[in-house]
Amino acid sequence: MKPYFFRDGIVELSQVLRGTENIYMGIRPYGFHTGNMCTLVAYPILLCSELKRINKIPKFTFHVFINDWEQDKLDGLDVEKYPYNILPKFTTWQYVKDPIDKKRSIVDVWEKVISAHTKLIEFYFPDTKVKIIRNSSMKMNPIMKKCLIKTIRNPAKVLQIIKKGSNKPTLKDAIFASAVCPKCNAARGVTRVKLEDHIVHNCINCKTKSRGEYGNFDYWFYHKPLSLPRIEIYKIDLTITNINKYKEGNFTIRKELMKQYGMKMPPPNTLYAPVILGANKKTMGKSKGNAFNIGLDQLLQLLNENPNSEEIIIPNSL
Ligand SMILES: [Zn+2]
Repeated sequence: MKPYFFRDGIVELSQVLRGTENIYMGIRPYGFHTGNMCTLVAYPILLCSELKRINKIPKFTFHVFINDWEQDKLDGLDVEKYPYNILPKFTTWQYVKDPIDKKRSIVDVWEKVISAHTKLIEFYFPDTKVKIIRNSSMKMNPIMKKCLIKTIRNPAKVLQIIKKGSNKPTLKDAIFASAVCPKCNAARGVTRVKLEDHIVHNCINCKTKSRGEYGNFDYWFYHKPLSLPRIEIYKIDLTITNINKYKEGNFTIRKELMKQYGMKMPPPNTLYAPVILGANKKTMGKSKGNAFNIGLDQLLQLLNENPNSEEIIIPNSL
């Protein structure tokens, strides 16, 4: 397991890859800006191009994980200062309606956009495959169930590993998974696991106490422990993400979490893409209000002009 960085990383990786590996990428289903395009479309295309250049046929399977179990918005005492002591503001993306057409789910809308963009990889490299997978669709997989129940039962273990691997301060209590209230859809409450897989959930929002089998609930599941079942179920060899994640200590944290959770797969290699900066030279993000879109051709040109830069500034976006 190794981290690979930017263009040099692509060149180095291409030497060791067979071309048939399972690759992992992830996104929250509520937007698609140039930052997403860089990690989910441009970097896969650059990797495939490099393989082709050295006469290997790219036959990768790209797994695009749609994180509909992530929080609608972050809440917490101070999400900047304590990024690991967070909760969903109200619910998960799975329960959010599209702001334009309130009858539609926001996930249905953005999954279409994400799929249309990432399928460009298949268009340029016809032997590759792009699979779009919602977290919620993995609920009944035994590996997902095991990891989720373990996280609800023992958040302190997760916090301990994060604390060791990160340079950000942490508060004493943290939770990394909970049930969604079946009555009001709030992901704010106290969830307990009784016996093997019986869920008891007390909703803080509507005060309903719900009980039932694991499969009768949906969940909020924090992305760090959530990456483990994805890796194991889809036998992931390589993940592609941006350099900010490396700086957050994700590489070491994932390795330690995989050990703690007793995962069978070895931790995957990671290819780090640069961060795209939007207005005020801040990392582009829909939640930061500085999302911006340029065409794939222009983005690829910028990446070729700045092959090993940690940050790419989009002209005219500032
Ligand atoms: Zn409720």
